Amino acid sequence: MRTRLLFTVTLLVLGGLPLPERLRANDEAEAEITLALVGGWLIDGNTPVPFENPVILIAGNKIKAVGRVGRVRIPTGVHVIDVQGKFILPGFIDAHAHLEGLGLGERDAEFTDTPEKLRHVILQNARLDLLSGVTSLRDCGSSELVLKLREQIEAEGPRLFASGPQLVKRDPTLPSLPLFLEYEGAKDARRKVREQIAKGIDFVKVRLTRQRPLPTLEELLAIVNEAHRAGLKVAAHVDAPHDEAVRLAVMAGVDTIEHMAPLRTYDDRLLLEMARRNILLVPTLYQIQAQRVNPLEGKDEDLIEPPLHNRLPAEILQALAQRAALWRRHVLEWRARGYDPKRALREAFRSLTRARLLGVKVALGPDTGSDLIPHGRFYKELVLYVNMGIPLIEVIQMATRLGAEALGREKEVGTIEPGKLADLIVVDGDPLLDPEALRHVVLVIKDGQVIEVPRNEAKNR
Ligand SMILES: [Zn+2]
Repeated sequence: MRTRLLFTVTLLVLGGLPLPERLRANDEAEAEITLALVGGWLIDGNTPVPFENPVILIAGNKIKAVGRVGRVRIPTGVHVIDVQGKFILPGFIDAHAHLEGLGLGERDAEFTDTPEKLRHVILQNARLDLLSGVTSLRDCGSSELVLKLREQIEAEGPRLFASGPQLVKRDPTLPSLPLFLEYEGAKDARRKVREQIAKGIDFVKVRLTRQRPLPTLEELLAIVNEAHRAGLKVAAHVDAPHDEAVRLAVMAGVDTIEHMAPLRTYDDRLLLEMARRNILLVPTLYQIQAQRVNPLEGKDEDLIEPPLHNRLPAEILQALAQRAALWRRHVLEWRARGYDPKRALREAFRSLTRARLLGVKVALGPDTGSDLIPHGRFYKELVLYVNMGIPLIEVIQMATRLGAEALGREKEVGTIEPGKLADLIVVDGDPLLDPEALRHVVLVIKDGQVIEVPRNEAKNR
């Protein structure tokens, strides 16, 4: 009895908690550990410096522990993956993609004109995204097929967050488009949101666009309130007229603004208001490079570079090259009239810096699936930001932690820390020295499942 008391007192002094209990807790924790990543460098999505020689313990689909080699005990018998010489990052979050798009603009239709073909394209795209390190994807507008294929998409590819068809204000003079859901008046807008929610959307996408009349504030508020009441976020596609449309989106309290419109406003109060309301910006800037700079420079090989050139069927590669040639003709015409795409990129980045200084958070999505932006190249958006002067670690945070905020899932994904879902990737090479290394994803772990990325795939298998 006395011995036992002494033992307990000693333990309380030494450890705070009686040892037998702590041991039991640890034993349980260790029994669950299924996987350990060891060595290399860790960029965790939170801290501003990379961490050398990490150990990451995974239990089932969750991250259990993160520490340094020698400081975190790896239980015996656990599957250990040695990642020496490589970088571990949180899985990427593509905050703006369209799973139905191949990157061919209206020529997508040639490959998606039956439900079977469309289904094939959706699943092929999901696979390409996962192999390129995207473990969560925000589909910002598609037909209802994407919602119906949720289980298969998530089995083949990333976690799916989908808006289904985009809401757009009806214009009685224009024919309706099949991919959009039209509303007229606040009551109708509210009803359309409810219908979408019943079909299983994860967020609402609304369009404020040049091609249609802008919604009234009342209509937009109805959409936002109905979505928020159901716990869903609202993403607003905004193109011109910039100030007016951005102000409308901000006043209505949307959660994210898609594309470059806020970067083209000349009213800093709008950006400050975005920051104050925690409205994220998803600038989709790679569009300018892909559609305007690259075609002008004849960089077709950039469009289908490794490893993507091995992963896409030959007829799609060929169609992409033809599409780039078409864009080249367009851009040459625009240039003859004084348009300079590189200048446009520089100006966009100057505005982006201003927005960030004013506190606007940025999440990344290249508008994957739209014209000349095939799936499986999310890293292109990151490389562009680094090349334009934003430090790699910050760019990675935009592509991970802030992407999770855009999804409203920052408690579950987006960083590598205990308790989060085990979504992480390993890249070969040093992205701090060369951001292009982000292309060489060699291992993807999604939901604790290891997905080997084939290195030397046979061409066009
Ligand atoms: Zn889009």
